[in-house]
Parts: sequence; C-alpha cells; structure tokens
Amino acid sequence: MSNSLPSDVFPLGIATKILFDDNAITAVSSDFGGIIVGRRPLGVFCPSSEDDIVQLVRSAYESPKPFSITARGRGHSDSGQSVSTGGITIDMRSLAAGTQRIRIRVSSENGYSPYVDVGAEQLWSEVMLETLKNGLSPRTLLDYMDLTVGGTLSVGGLSGQAFRYGPQVQNVHELDVITGKGELVTCSKKHNSDLFFAALGGLGQFGIITRARIALQPAPTKVKWVGLVYTDFEAFAGDEEYLITLDGTTGKKKGFNYIEGFVFLDHNQVSSPFFSDEEVAKISAVTSEHGGAYFIEGAIYYSDDTAFTIDQEVESILEGLHYTKGFKFIRELSYTGFVDRVRCEEEKLRRFGLWDIPHPWLNLLVPKSRIHDFHEGVFKGVFKQGNTMGVILIYPLGKNKWDERMSLVFPEEEVFYKIGLLLSSFPVNLGCVLRQRDEVLRFCEKNKIEAKQYLPHYKKIEDWMKHFGSKWDRFVEMKKKYDPKAILAPGQCIFSSPLV
Ligand SMILES: Cc1cc2nc3c(=O)[nH]c(=O)nc-3n(C[C@H](O)[C@H](O)[C@H](O)COP(=O)(O)OP(=O)(O)OC[C@H]3O[C@@H](n4cnc5c(N)ncnc54)[C@H](O)[C@@H]3O)c2cc1C
Repeated sequence: MSNSLPSDVFPLGIATKILFDDNAITAVSSDFGGIIVGRRPLGVFCPSSEDDIVQLVRSAYESPKPFSITARGRGHSDSGQSVSTGGITIDMRSLAAGTQRIRIRVSSENGYSPYVDVGAEQLWSEVMLETLKNGLSPRTLLDYMDLTVGGTLSVGGLSGQAFRYGPQVQNVHELDVITGKGELVTCSKKHNSDLFFAALGGLGQFGIITRARIALQPAPTKVKWVGLVYTDFEAFAGDEEYLITLDGTTGKKKGFNYIEGFVFLDHNQVSSPFFSDEEVAKISAVTSEHGGAYFIEGAIYYSDDTAFTIDQEVESILEGLHYTKGFKFIRELSYTGFVDRVRCEEEKLRRFGLWDIPHPWLNLLVPKSRIHDFHEGVFKGVFKQGNTMGVILIYPLGKNKWDERMSLVFPEEEVFYKIGLLLSSFPVNLGCVLRQRDEVLRFCEKNKIEAKQYLPHYKKIEDWMKHFGSKWDRFVEMKKKYDPKAILAPGQCIFSSPLV
C-alpha cells in the first residue's frame, strides 16, 4: 500500500475536500480507547455526497499505487479500528453537515412494516429523535446512542433488547455499500445478498455503508425500570437465563423488553443513573460485605393505555426470582429518559475528567456452559484485587435471533453471555489494566473456553483465522470479490496486502 498520495489521482471535484492540516489529522489519529498511538493518516476527506466517496475509492482502486481508505464514524472504537497509518480517513459525519439523511416510511411498502432509511453517518440518537416524532422507534438500540449507524452495523450492535430482536445487524432490511472497487451497490437478503450479509458485522472490510434501511416498531412512551441485586452468582445467572426465555413469543408470560446484567466487583462500581444516593450506599454496603454483587436491570415498555396493568405485569415477571430480599428497585421513566441513560453518565464522567481517559475494553461472547468457570477464573481470579475502574456487563443472549450468514461471529452454543469489560484507566495504570485484559484472554485459552471477541482486535492473521473459524474462507472470498486490493479499513489489521 502506498505511503504517499499520487498527485494526479483525484478528480478535481474532490481534491478540495481533503484536509492535510495537522489539526484535522490529529483529530482522527486516536480513538475512544486511547491505547493506540503513532498512527496518522495522510489526509482527512470530508465528503458532501455518496458520489464524492465513490470518486475517492475509485481513485484509490485505479491508482497504480493504491492507498488505504478508512471510514470513520465517531471513532468510538477501543483499539484503533478506525485509525490508520497513511492513506485517507473519511470523516463520515461530514455527510450529515448539510441536511440530515433520515427518511421514515410507515407504509408496508415492499412488504416491510415501518422502516427508516438513514445515512450511515447519522447517530442513533438523531435517528431516534426523528422516528419518535412519528411515534416509532428502532426495535433494538444501543446503551449509548451517540454512535454512527455505519460504525455499529460494521460491528454488530448489541444491547439489552438483543435477546428479543437480535443485534442491530439483524434488524436491517437493505444497505447501500460503496465497495473497495468504488461501485455503489444496493443490497438486501434478496439482492446482492452476499455483500449484504458480508457487510453486516463485516468490520468495514467489504465496503463503506452509506445508507441503511432499519426496521421500526411503535414506540412506547413510558418504561418501568426494575433493578434487582444479588449476592449469589448462581441465583443471578439462573434468573437472567430464565428472564430471556420470556420473550413474548413463547406463549409464556410477557417478559421484559430489555435485560442487562452487571457485576459489581467492589463498592466503587455500584452505579446507575436511576439509583438514589441512599440506594447506592445500601448496595455498596452489601457489595463490600459479600466481596462483590450482581445486578439485573430490566425494563418493560408501556404507554398510557396499558398503564393500568403495568404493575401487575412487573409483579408477575418478578414472581419466583431469587434476588436478595429488600434489594428490588422500581422506577417509572419516560422512554427517552431510559434511552438516554448512558449519556447522563457521560456528562457526569466528563465533569470529573473521567471520560477522556484510556478505555482498554474487552468484549466477549462466552458460551453459557462455561459461564461459571469464567466467573470463577475472571471475576474471582483475575480481578480479585478490586479497584477496577469501569463497568462490567454480563447478560445472556439466544443464538436463535442471530443469522449465521452475517460476518458477525458468535459462539456455537444456543445461549451465550455478552461480557463487557468496559474498563477505564488513568494513563499511569494503563499497562497494568492491559495485562489484566491479556490475562482474561489467556485464562479462556488455557481453559478451552470458546469465547469469541465482540469488537475484536487482533494483530496476527492466525488469530483472525481462529476468530472467524468456519466463516474465514467465506470472509476471504468476499474480500477478494469486493475489496481485492485491501484498500478498506486497514485499522482492523486483518488484510495488509492485496489479495489479487
Ligand atoms: C461509550 C460507548 C458505548 C458503547 N455502547 C455500545 C453498545 O451499547 N452496543 C454496542 O454494540 N457497541 C457499543 N459501543 C461500541 C461501538 O458500537 C463500536 O465501537 C462502534 O464501532 C463505534 O461506532 P463509531 O461510529 O464510532 O465507529 P468507528 O469507531 O468510527 O468505526 C468502527 C469501524 O467501523 C468502520 N466504519 C465506520 N463507519 C463505517 C461505514 N459507514 N461503513 C463501513 N465501515 C465503517 C471503521 O472503519 C472502523 O473499522 C460503545 C462504544 C462506546 C465508546
């Protein structure tokens, strides 16, 4: 891959949209993780249309000295996935600088129930704002909504609704993708389906997503938020696994619409935007007494016309659960208040200077059959010292909601846990936290726990081959077809040289 840009490759119209100044380049030379240093692209491209991107990619593809191209959403990756050395970084957000590209369709046109066509540069929070004006909402969300549609569809998109609707990539009807050859292709399950499935969870390897058609459903106006604290891991995991079976489609009780679980390794980790100070103190005390605690967060959606049965519904879901007596917390929230919960935490962390610090995150999908081993080895082993900064997520998901044809990788077992070690660290402690992160991976490897990384980061091709497992050959085949010169998304460190 060329380390300099050939001067004659850019058609006149786009050359002026590339910034080469230090400020522009520095702004795209790091990410939310704050771990990767020393990578710098040659320039930052600010397209104002899809056609601009087509021209840029075609220039790279047709050049005798191809240069790499990185689409960057918000750069909220944790290990340099959207940061490149050399080449051009596309600031996808500049597409949203003009008019927003969010068009809602409520008819059942094309056989779809309501949907929204969105520019991939849009944030989910922007999409939500528009859909709510029509009383609609995407079926499955993110904990944090200020991420781009393209950036999250390239990785998967997981949150507490995924047990019911699958990841975000499962709720997409159609995509527009600019391939590594500079061709704009519309794809869906029926048309150009190989590109459609490859691009979903495809880590940006096959093309730049410029538009997505996302499934919508009627939006609730209110949420009953339920928090349950446990001191016993068996009871906690058993209840989580039971709760995800109540998915409203099984003829059983109507369950939660959202379920996530958390580990509080010590009292410093007890936090929720919905706890009062007294509740934090009470939960912190029990956490200290038991050397840790577990927390289920559930939410059930409703509207004014169903409000009269909501308390009964909540009681019915909670019947027979094994949380610690006296540790049930219930709140009534607006739907938007619930959806915005992590943004509130962001504001708080920013005030304390704790947002722009390194985030050596590790996300894993761990088979249900090994979750107790993982708990013992990781939470009671690797992290036994305490003083861990950040949030630890742990909640089960069912494979029946995931389409095997997508590039997104997940374990073989029917049920697996999403583990989010969303750690933060002061720069001075970063080395130590990174070692802990490696230790978790080594523990899984040594104990043959077939965990798959979500938002993966590997440097060696053998590790990527292992990660993709039976999907690897197909992944390479699709790369040869759609980005044979390996121009796209070099920050993922998968393909470093052309495949042709
Ligand atoms: C505070 C916070 C909360 C988060 N919460 C969640 C969560 O609840 N659920 C979840 O699943 N994830 C979550 N994440 C992870 C997040 O989904 C991923 O890091 C995602 O990739 C970030 O989106 P982005 O727009 O910043 O993408 P970037 O980091 O800019 O890009 C990520 C990758 O996608 C590629 N890419 C970007 N845009 C496009 C495009 N249009 N077409 C093709 N490739 C593209 C990039 O080249 C890069 O390889 C969270 C991250 C943070 C920092």
